Amino acid sequence: MRFSSLFVLCLAFAPPVLADGLPDLGDSSQLTVTPQMERRVGEEAMRDIRLHDPAFDDDAEATAYLNVLGDRLVASSQDAHQPFEFFLVKDPTLNAFALPGGFIGVNTGTIVTAQSESELAAVLAHEIAHVTQHHMARMAAKQGQLSLAMLAAMALAIVARNSQAGSAVATIGQAGAITAQIGYSREFEREADRIGFHTLQKAGFDVRAMPAFFLRMQKAGRLYENNAPAYLRDHPITTERIADAENRVQGLPYKQVPDSLDFQLVRAKLRAQQGAPRDTLALLQADLRDRKYSNEIAARYGVAVALLRAQEPVRAAAELAPLLKTTEHPMLAGLEARIKRANGDDKGALAVLKHALLRYPDDRALNYACIETRQRLGKNSDAAALLDQQIRNFPNDARLYELQAKGYSSEGKQLLAHQAQAEAYVLQGSLPAAIEQLQLAQKSGDGDFYQLSSVDARLRDLRAQLAQQKKDDK
Ligand SMILES: [Zn+2]
Repeated sequence: MRFSSLFVLCLAFAPPVLADGLPDLGDSSQLTVTPQMERRVGEEAMRDIRLHDPAFDDDAEATAYLNVLGDRLVASSQDAHQPFEFFLVKDPTLNAFALPGGFIGVNTGTIVTAQSESELAAVLAHEIAHVTQHHMARMAAKQGQLSLAMLAAMALAIVARNSQAGSAVATIGQAGAITAQIGYSREFEREADRIGFHTLQKAGFDVRAMPAFFLRMQKAGRLYENNAPAYLRDHPITTERIADAENRVQGLPYKQVPDSLDFQLVRAKLRAQQGAPRDTLALLQADLRDRKYSNEIAARYGVAVALLRAQEPVRAAAELAPLLKTTEHPMLAGLEARIKRANGDDKGALAVLKHALLRYPDDRALNYACIETRQRLGKNSDAAALLDQQIRNFPNDARLYELQAKGYSSEGKQLLAHQAQAEAYVLQGSLPAAIEQLQLAQKSGDGDFYQLSSVDARLRDLRAQLAQQKKDDK
């Protein structure tokens, strides 16, 4: 099992007890690396993860949930204006890690393991603090090596440590050489804990979740005694950090924060997708039978997801049906549509999605599903109309451009397909790949004068952007 975990590494350091309210250890104005440069380093690392990490999980429902939760915390953080992107890594172990510029990866196992939404929020708040405090750039600065290249190498090392894209990038540059030094210092861990705690509190979560989750981490760490990576063995999770967190919550009034249904459903879905399909199904069915759940709707939904995954769509439909009568939620509609599709009923799936979109017009997962279903049914102009509308609302959503490229491609419109794919690559931070697509668009031979001029203009624009980036890197 993969267990290269920056978050665990974070927790592994034992910070001395420190009172709250001490000044920050430095501030970003002393850095020669700008937030824009940090963002670019993060974007490039993300591109490697998207392209090379088979564990990168683009589940639209879970990713949307994670970003809503994350953004709620960011709004209560020290830098509410920093853009963040939270993404999922399909991995049952517990881990979360931050890249420079606001990209935060969360293992599916972290969400499944969290016993409450506040626990998951505590993990995110800690990672958000690493970003808003520019810990990676400050770490490089401390070593007297602050440069864009150094920061990029550190980001690659984090990718190497935390994702399967690591094998693809570990050989690049200095990433391998500096892997040993990327652990955050005790001061930075202490700072991330302290600031993360305030973020959690300000955002209205149960702050007791922080020490509770630390305790669970400590227990989980013990399980790896024999095969834990060296850093976890050398720096076992000690009681000091837990004591710090417990000191912070002491004397605070008890505050019960109920979990959202979104959290419950996302956790149930991710759990249903772990492990061997039949084994997982049996486990979830047993939990439901024995009433071992915190939310019955989510428990039944999880069984339905597991049934679908075990290729039993008819039984999945039967399991889901009573829930649909009592509860309205976009994820229930999404599952109903997937089940109908698996039962060979694409038209029925489309009807479900269209109906659900009347009630949840901005739900990203429902919109993706509706576009894909229309494309599958050959309703290309309907799909294109919805795509245009969605792209107007969410102009930075690369997935929409990918769906658009797919639609054009199936209609044989090569210029437009390459042009749409180019925009998807731009949004994923990959200018060279975007330029290549536009060159293919120029050669496609099926565009009119206006379409070709638009491709030429965009190509000039992107080449200029790439030249500027290369200049900045020097
Ligand atoms: Zn940390």
